[in-house]
Amino acid sequence: MSNSAPPAQTPRQSVLARIAAAASEAGRAPSEVTLVAVSKQQPWSRIEPILAEGQRIFGENRVQEAAARWSEPRQALPDLELRLIGPLQTNKADEAVGLFDVIESLDRDRLARALADAAQKAGRAPRLYVQVNTGEEPQKAGVLPDAADAFIHDLRRTYDLAPEGLMCIPPQDEPPGPHFALLRKIAGRTGLAQLSMGMSGDFETAVRFGATSVRVGSALFGERAPALPTKDPV
Ligand SMILES: *Cc1c(COP(=O)(O)O)cnc(C)c1O
Repeated sequence: MSNSAPPAQTPRQSVLARIAAAASEAGRAPSEVTLVAVSKQQPWSRIEPILAEGQRIFGENRVQEAAARWSEPRQALPDLELRLIGPLQTNKADEAVGLFDVIESLDRDRLARALADAAQKAGRAPRLYVQVNTGEEPQKAGVLPDAADAFIHDLRRTYDLAPEGLMCIPPQDEPPGPHFALLRKIAGRTGLAQLSMGMSGDFETAVRFGATSVRVGSALFGERAPALPTKDPV
C-alpha cells in the first residue's frame, strides 16, 4: 500500500470528475453536460477561486442579488454566462433580459409576453428554458406537466419565442429519477434539446437521465448563508 496522499482536488474538479463518470456510465460524452455553478447567497471570496479555475457559467435565483454580485465583475469577463434559475416577476423582465444570458424559469403566459417585449426593446434575447413543476407541488413554480406541451406550443406560435430546453426541481422528499425521466419525455415530444436538472444531491442521477446541464451550489461552494430578507419576488 502506498502512503502517498492522492493529489488534492478542488471541489470543482471533483464535481466535474463525478459528472464525467456518470456520463461515461450512461454512454454519454462528459462534454454533453454543462456545469452551472450556483453562486446565490455565496460570498465573493468563495466565487473568486472558482473563477480562477476557469468556471464561467453561473446560476442565480434573484435578479437584484445577481445584479449586485455580477454587474461589475462581468465587465472584465466577456465569456461569463449568467443563468436565472429562480422565479421571475414580470416587472423585473427588462432587468432580467439585460443581465441574464439564459432564463430557466419561464412558466406562464404573462411572463412570456413580458420577456418577448423586453427582448424586443433591448435588442437582446436571452436563451429560454421552460420550468416544469414535475411534482405538481402547489408551492413550487413551473408549468404543470399536463400543460407543458400547450404552453411550449404557445410560446412558439403566439410569442415567437424559441425555448431551448426544460428545467425542473424535483420534490425534496421523493427519488428524483422519475421526475428527471418525465422532464426528458416532455422535452422529447416537444422537440427541446436541453435538460436543466440535477443539483448537489442528485446531479449524477440527473446526468444518467440525460441532463445537459446541472445546477450545483453547495457541493462547489459549501453551505450557503441564509437568504437575506428581500423585496425581490420569491
Ligand atoms: C439553489 C438552487 C440550486 C443549487 O442547490 P444545491 O443543492 O446547493 O446544489 C439548484 N437549482 C435551483 C433552482 C436552486 O434554487
